[in-house]
Amino acid sequence: MIATLEPPAVTPTPATTPGAHPDKLRQTVSASRLNTWLSCRLKFYFRYVLGLKKPKTAALYVGHTVHGVLKLWNKARWRRQTVTIDDLKTQFDTLWQADQVEEKIKWDEGEEADEKATAWSLLDLYLKQSPVPPNELPEAVEVSLEADLSAHGLPRLIGIVDLDRAGGRIVDYKTVGQTPNPEKAVHTNEVQMTSYSVLYREATGKTESGRDLHHLVKTKTPKLIITEQGPMTEPQRVRLFRQLESYVEGVGRQDFVPSPGLQCSACQYMNECRRWS
Ligand code: SF4
Repeated sequence: MIATLEPPAVTPTPATTPGAHPDKLRQTVSASRLNTWLSCRLKFYFRYVLGLKKPKTAALYVGHTVHGVLKLWNKARWRRQTVTIDDLKTQFDTLWQADQVEEKIKWDEGEEADEKATAWSLLDLYLKQSPVPPNELPEAVEVSLEADLSAHGLPRLIGIVDLDRAGGRIVDYKTVGQTPNPEKAVHTNEVQMTSYSVLYREATGKTESGRDLHHLVKTKTPKLIITEQGPMTEPQRVRLFRQLESYVEGVGRQDFVPSPGLQCSACQYMNECRRWS
């Protein structure tokens, strides 16, 4: 049976997101918030304490839309609906237009058509080559999870996992510009994937069977690269908890200093940063 997909949900995004007092930020933490803290404390301050919101770049918008369509595909299987690539193309076109109402992307001349074609080519490739069988029933899709770590003197860990596959395999989607090196990909995504393992174990009482990064690579000819790793190890858990300890202490001290480095080339707070003293 071919069921009709639900229309994609478009979440209104306020022009500015209210910031939060550091004391509140110490009570809960997500992997993305911790990653921002670890990469640059001043960037963390601009984004989470002041709540300065910046429009998505073209590259981020492609990733956002690709992610939105994959979420629809996974949710359809979760609900035992059958969807075709044509159905998903229609949803892709809708999402591409609808989310721009709030996101207000500043495209260069001719850029939008190119980026849109790239985004669909990535999805088309993924839907045809995905290691996830079209009839596989997920354990969960985009479910909000949390873990109370107060027994360790740590904040509540929160997160939304892209996909928990049948058999407890955690999947996270990445839209990237270059072919990833597997070892580096595991390293650079360690905070996120370890957090997901902690959340999964807390929610299910089980150990995940593995964790995969599905990289959709925006090369001239799109590529799908899967980076597989096993369940979280004890050293990975300890590293995450030590990073969380550092977060709690540093945010408590309001230790919001800049960390100039390679990451600045992709930072949207450069102007604000240059005025900091
Ligand atoms: S420009 Fe660099 S140092 Fe400044 S806030 Fe951004 S990441 Fe931090």
